[in-house]
Amino acid sequence: MTSLDLVMERIEKARLAVSAHHIVQLIAVSKYSTADEVAALYAQGQRAFGENKVQDMESKMEQLADLPLSWHFMGNLQSNKINKLIDLNPALIHSVSSLELAQAIDQRLAAKGKKLSALLQINSAYEETKGGVTPEEAVDVFTTITASCPNLNLKGVMTIGAHVEDDAVIQKSFETTRAIFEQLPDASICSMGMSGDFELAIRCGSNMVRLGSVLFK
Ligand SMILES: *Cc1c(COP(=O)(O)O)cnc(C)c1O
Repeated sequence: MTSLDLVMERIEKARLAVSAHHIVQLIAVSKYSTADEVAALYAQGQRAFGENKVQDMESKMEQLADLPLSWHFMGNLQSNKINKLIDLNPALIHSVSSLELAQAIDQRLAAKGKKLSALLQINSAYEETKGGVTPEEAVDVFTTITASCPNLNLKGVMTIGAHVEDDAVIQKSFETTRAIFEQLPDASICSMGMSGDFELAIRCGSNMVRLGSVLFK
């Protein structure tokens, strides 16, 4: 069995525990992997990949331009990299971490006559080292971005689970994010769960997991 098969089995088990109708999309995070390793995973059937640096995403996209891959961006986005990211035309930006960043991206999109899909990042465990809006302000910020950023198609929310050992604390960060997601009438994507916590994330309602180390070994 390949590592992709094993991961798919684990996702399948976790999602069926929620409901037979609960579909979970897998994004393979290739930030610590080479283009050859991405191509190997593609050969096993994986199509969606993620990176957290604009430069690395550009380089992988160039090296793998012949393959029909979709690319997701999920890193801290500096304003001087916004234009470059837009030009790469990612399938989804997971890491819109503030109203200001959303408006900056929207302005550049307007200037280029383009649109992009994105998620609002929630700092669900109030961690200083992480970006994102607080759970308290999330619904307001989401609504304001939707109303004021016509070129940014906000499709849902993303969070990184609490960086602790205690599963109960991690679970709470996922439940907090899912509760916000449920208050957003037009949201369809709840992106949460990484290699160490994706089954818990799925049980808490995630429908998009972002897995790196468990896939690329
Ligand atoms: C690196 C990264 C992942 C994947 O992490 P793993 O623990 O290797 O699965 C997921 N999401 C984000 C935002 C990341 O930066």
